[in-house]
Amino acid sequence: MVKSCYIHIPFCNEICSYCDFCKLLRNDSFIDTYLDALEKEINKYYKGEELDTLYIGGGTPSCLNTNQLERLFQILSVFKKSKNIEYTIEGNFESTDKEKLELYKKYGINRLSFGIETIDIKQLKFLKRKLNIDRVRELIKIAREIGFTNINVDLMYALPNERIEELKKDLEFILSLDIEHISTYSLIIEKNTLLDIKHIKNISEELDFAMYEEICKTLKKNNYCHYEISNFAREGYESRHNKTYWKNEEYYGFGLGASSYIGNYRIENTRSLNQYLDGNYRLNIDTLSERDKIEYEVLLRLRLSEGIDLELFYKKFHKRLEDFYRYDDLIKNKFLREMEKRLFIPEDKWYISNEIIVKILEGEING
Ligand code: SF4
Repeated sequence: MVKSCYIHIPFCNEICSYCDFCKLLRNDSFIDTYLDALEKEINKYYKGEELDTLYIGGGTPSCLNTNQLERLFQILSVFKKSKNIEYTIEGNFESTDKEKLELYKKYGINRLSFGIETIDIKQLKFLKRKLNIDRVRELIKIAREIGFTNINVDLMYALPNERIEELKKDLEFILSLDIEHISTYSLIIEKNTLLDIKHIKNISEELDFAMYEEICKTLKKNNYCHYEISNFAREGYESRHNKTYWKNEEYYGFGLGASSYIGNYRIENTRSLNQYLDGNYRLNIDTLSERDKIEYEVLLRLRLSEGIDLELFYKKFHKRLEDFYRYDDLIKNKFLREMEKRLFIPEDKWYISNEIIVKILEGEING
């Protein structure tokens, strides 16, 4: 049963040098037609389920003007929402103001997610991002006054030539905001981004690891719970929407480049604006076998500190996890732990979680 929904707003005021997301430079003449197409897509595929989480991401949704945002919220009013819904909108501080925050509140948004990435002026320039730290403080204050009690910010690390001292300053600033959730990202130079074209290289593995450790240590010391490899939250403020993905549960995804997981299908939308505006929303539909679903269950759930609930796994797949994979050596060598009917990667091994998951999948039992 689908209980979550992602809405993609691809427009951004500027394009960051590292970005390989599905995004477009903001252009008013396209926004209204895009919203019309989005409404048609939702009306075509939404089956009326009650949603527990609704997430407007991008792109930069806050770069829409208030009329466009109002139109978006009216489109999204078609969704049945549970009383306790987590309703998030992403944005940046540059394109957010008091009027937009009040509009969000009026339409029931109860979680804000902002990109900060870094406060280092040199690095911001390099990433082609803008940030004014006084504006950040001011907007967080206004958001609190309006009544927002659940705010996330994104932090990026492993930036070229970044030193631990700079990361510490970023952490110090983010902690001073006293927000509920922090998502962290290690910069990866993706193909065909501006950074790739300029032949910028990733920092060394050792420094990347040292930075990850610094983040984990600092945020835990400041009472953030490390509940997913790259995500930290105050108690009770874990992202319910993102946990839908990590728990391998179904979700709708509407908008350019969005993806959905519904029943036996993983669906990927087109990244071509023309195709999308013509009503050709879907690019690819993958039909999942039972084995595929089990593989996703392992891949995704092991990102969470709670890991795989082995009883739930049995209920879902009518067999035990050890009937599909041999992983006792990984437990013996402390790369995995089994406790209270849960299988998880211990926190001190999260940095190498990809390698551990590959090892589990290599231990597949055929049949
Ligand atoms: S704001 Fe986000 S989506 Fe837009 S260009 Fe920057 S990284 Fe990409």
